[in-house]
Amino acid sequence: MIKCPYCGSDDVEVVKTWKMRNYTVTHYKCRACGGTFNHYSDASTGKEFILRSGRRAVKH
Ligand SMILES: [Zn+2]
Repeated sequence: MIKCPYCGSDDVEVVKTWKMRNYTVTHYKCRACGGTFNHYSDASTGKEFILRSGRRAVKH
């Protein structure tokens, strides 16, 4: 269901999940390319979207 926004692979794993306002945020890591991204899901409206959260060059 969830696909990597970088390479399109569905071989992704859940790193962690947390709540942010109305959204349930799930942090994923792609096993194929190593990319990480967050999936946002609002259960009350059915809205959901994916945001990329950086690849290897993450600035701290
Ligand atoms: Zn990927």
